[in-house]
Amino acid sequence: MGTGTLHIDLEALAANWRALDAKSDAKTAAVVKANGYGLDAGTVAKTLAYAGARQFFVAVAEEGVALREALGEGPQINVFAGHMAGDAALLRDHDLTPMLNSAEQFARHRDALPDHAYGVQLDSGMNRLGMEPAEWAALRGDLLAGPITLVMSHLACADEPDHPQNADQLRQFRDMTQGLSTPRSLAATGGILMGKDYHFDLTRPGIGLYGGFPFTQAQAVVRLSLPVVQLRDLENGETVGYSAGYTAKGPRKIATLSAGYADGLIRAMGGKAMLYAGSTACQLAGRVSMDLLTVDVTHLDEVPDQLDILGPHQNVDQLADAAGTIGYEILTSLGARYNREYSGEY
Ligand SMILES: *Cc1c(COP(=O)(O)O)cnc(C)c1O
Repeated sequence: MGTGTLHIDLEALAANWRALDAKSDAKTAAVVKANGYGLDAGTVAKTLAYAGARQFFVAVAEEGVALREALGEGPQINVFAGHMAGDAALLRDHDLTPMLNSAEQFARHRDALPDHAYGVQLDSGMNRLGMEPAEWAALRGDLLAGPITLVMSHLACADEPDHPQNADQLRQFRDMTQGLSTPRSLAATGGILMGKDYHFDLTRPGIGLYGGFPFTQAQAVVRLSLPVVQLRDLENGETVGYSAGYTAKGPRKIATLSAGYADGLIRAMGGKAMLYAGSTACQLAGRVSMDLLTVDVTHLDEVPDQLDILGPHQNVDQLADAAGTIGYEILTSLGARYNREYSGEY
């Protein structure tokens, strides 16, 4: 088999949700946007529904439609992008709850679906999505008079607990939501870890469920094993790959693996990332190609059929470091060609 195998440990996923749930007295939702951070939103959400999650969040209505198909009726599916033009039928027919981001979205929602539940997203300082304080103040009475389920906002710096913007946004969110009886939500993974002040009524973890920073106590959820297509011996001075990016200093053994930047193994990790044969590290040699990687395996007594690029010895954040990015991008880039194997399926 030529494709890599992406092992996804659903027991670890459920354990991470339970561990994050145990960190607050709030209800704990699950964020499954971007196809469940690359791991298959339907499978991820069904696992977490079984673990106890009743609220889910996606980025756009179309993702919500696919998720409703997988989950069936019952769990609440919330849409961060709110009510966009053309969304009314999707929201209505699939029972999706838009998080309204502006006066314009509120007007659109009230015109099209006056009795359909919604939440409101407030901008507490990230300046990305949500109503600004003045806009919220003007509409607050009307918004609270309708079928509103949630008032939420998002932290810009929650992966750095000491960043002063966290406290600023908390103060702003409190000011904007003082005295509300509607459930409130501010914390994603980072906010959960910052403690009680940030928890409110509902938390919205994403990355921590999938084993990523800043939830450093997370169980590993993914392992990615790449098959060796070919082995070759190099003599001193021979080069490997595009632009002759690697030069053998002495005799070397090179393994060519089946996966490349078209599978989300970002080209910038060339020459830096490690592959693992069991617990033995082997360095990438030269450039990442579209479908292939070349790895220096000279020091191995025996070259296995597959090498791991994600697993117990290199997690998504460590691989991200080698590529100059973050774990979120590694996960959400994981390619469609991999054979996804789930363990602990419910
Ligand atoms: C992506 C996202 C989350 C989840 O964030 P993590 O850092 O992955 O836990 C929560 N809320 C909003 C608004 C988001 O965009």
